[in-house]
Parts: sequence; structure tokens; C-alpha cells
Amino acid sequence: MSKLDLVPLSDKLFLVNAPNEGRFPLSHSFLIRGEKTVLIDTGCGLDVCRALMEEFPIEAVYNSHAHPDHIAGNFLFRGIDIFTPDVRSMETGTLDILATRLVGPDPKVMDFWKTFVRQFTGIEDYEATGTFSDGDILDFGGITLQAIHTPGHLEDHFCFWEPENKILMSFDIDLTGFGPFCGNPESDIQAFMESLDKVMALKPAVAASSHRPPIFKNAGRALQAFQDKFARNDQSILETLDAPKTLEEILALKPIYKKYFPGGEVLYRFFERNMISKHLARLEVQGRVTLAGGQYRVL
Ligand SMILES: [Zn+2]
Repeated sequence: MSKLDLVPLSDKLFLVNAPNEGRFPLSHSFLIRGEKTVLIDTGCGLDVCRALMEEFPIEAVYNSHAHPDHIAGNFLFRGIDIFTPDVRSMETGTLDILATRLVGPDPKVMDFWKTFVRQFTGIEDYEATGTFSDGDILDFGGITLQAIHTPGHLEDHFCFWEPENKILMSFDIDLTGFGPFCGNPESDIQAFMESLDKVMALKPAVAASSHRPPIFKNAGRALQAFQDKFARNDQSILETLDAPKTLEEILALKPIYKKYFPGGEVLYRFFERNMISKHLARLEVQGRVTLAGGQYRVL
């Protein structure tokens, strides 16, 4: 029996369901079946990637951004073109480079991350053969996609837009209840909000993210609700400040994550610390909190 579970978004564009509904550390991929057959993202599980290669004459792979849960299967496509975003394109390809970029500089966190990512995604190093840029129109024969740079989640995060049927492939603008992930050093809340404005302005009819089933109704409302999660996270952090607290004291209350993936505490603390710091920086700029003597307090 085929391991493939394809959800049609149009007659030429399919979401490739990853096991466990694409929950991290997996992610859905997208299959383009125009005159060219193209796969976008390879984090749908190594077995699913292998089944895709068996069933379809895949001519090229594109990556939405450099997170391992989106690129883990790249190494299986050795010998065919692999295109990555042109943003920070030299800082992907090996787990060592990615560890420095995504979870550096503490070697303890980096080592833990590498072991965790290897174990849960099966990733191996790969070589990209080219890049794509913001605004690029990718013509696959009968279906055309536009690359849209949507930084914030990571600096190199891209969406793809299929204009004919108004389908937004939103990747880690993932439209889950957790909300926007900004846990890496390069993540940026302001940029993320502006990226959301950019894709909402397209008025998509369908929004298909990497970590949940596609949204065929009220896609705009789902994008707005996702953007509103920034304010929810602000609020969750403010609620911890019934008395002045240090960053570490706020972190101990897990205001954003509430609970951590069992065994992954080292990483999740790292991610949540980054997210809380970025929210606090924004709340400081807005004049809603102040930092004095290492403690944050509400104004
Ligand atoms: Zn990501």
C-alpha cells in the first residue's frame, strides 16, 4: 500500500500529509504536478520522501526555510536540483552550521539540539544547487508559483503563492493554536507581523501550512487570529508580573509553552527564553514594562 496521502489543493498542487498531522518534528510537504514535478519541503518523514521518489519523477526540490523539520529529507534527493531561499543561504546544509545559527552559541544546547534533531528527523547533510529570491515567479508548466519572502519566524522564511486559485502555502506561518514560533536568535516579532500583513493583503482563498490540515474557508480570518496570538503571548507574560521578576523567573512559569516536549527541556527552555525576551523587548518599547536591576515590572 502506498505510504502517500495527498490532499489536492488544485488539480496540480497537492499537500503531502506527514504522519501525525504534520506535528513537529515532522511537517507537510507540497507536490507540484505541472509539466515539471517538484517537491516543496522534505520534512514529511524519510519513508514518505522515499515513496514520493518512487511514485513521481521529481525534478527539483524547494525549501521554504532552513528549519530541520522542513529539510530533513533533502539528502535523499542527491543528484537533483535543491533550491533554498537566497537569504542566509550559506548558513544551511550541515547540522553543525545550522546548530550555530539556530541554537548557538552555548555548546551544551547545540550538542543537545543536534542529537535531538538527528533522532527525530533523520536529517543528514545535503548540498543545495541553487537559490530563489523574493518575487521570483516559478513556472512549472501549467502552474506558476510566486516566492514571497516572509521573515520573522526565521530570516529566510518564504511563502509560495499560487495566484490562479489564490492558494497560499504558508509553511511556518503555521496557523496552529500554539501561535507564531519566534524561538531562534534570528526570529523577529515585528518582521513576523509585517509578513502576516503581506500575506493577508493577498486575500488567499486557501491557506495551507506545514503543521495542520489546510484551511479552505475563512483563510484570512485564520491568518488574523494567528497574528493576534502575539498579543495573547504579550498578555501571558504580563500576567506573570504580579511582582517584579527576572527573565529566568518568568521563564520558570512557562508562560508561552505551558509544558515542554518530554526529554526536550534544554531546547524548549532555550526557545521559550528567546521568545519571552523578544516579547519583553517589544513591551519595553511600547512602554508597558520596564527593566531595572535585572527585574521586569509592569508600568
Ligand atoms: Zn520553521
